[in-house]
Amino acid sequence: MKCSVCGNLESRVIDSRQSEDGAKIRRRRECLKCGARFTTYEEIEMVPLMVVKRDKSREPFDREKLRGKIQRACVKRPVSTERIDRLISEIEAHFANQMVKEIPSSEIGRLVLQKLRDVDEVAYIRFASVYKDFKDIDSFLAELAEMQKGTN
Ligand SMILES: [Zn+2]
Repeated sequence: MKCSVCGNLESRVIDSRQSEDGAKIRRRRECLKCGARFTTYEEIEMVPLMVVKRDKSREPFDREKLRGKIQRACVKRPVSTERIDRLISEIEAHFANQMVKEIPSSEIGRLVLQKLRDVDEVAYIRFASVYKDFKDIDSFLAELAEMQKGTN
């Protein structure tokens, strides 16, 4: 990182923290030559993430596809586009932090559910009904009961 005062290329990091959505790292740096302090923002490098589907085939993680699924669950619910964006960023950051290259689709679904639960109950149930692939009304009701336990 080039010092913005003297142009020296060597600096040391004195503080780094992740931005709220987890997508960037803010670093405070100090120039080793002149001692000037400056701040850099660095994108967290996203390792291309492969999703392992139920049939064991792989496909690249597709942010838009995930967004489509979440949006469908949030139709006519008071959930803003920004909130959905943030949710997706959180999920991406979660896997980026784990430094894994492959992730089972079930793991993504589980994480979305965990987060949707705090966002909107109806969206949560809609997403759960697709993701958990309920075979009958009993398993659906069991999940509902489970969910109520969690909120109490
Ligand atoms: Zn300098």
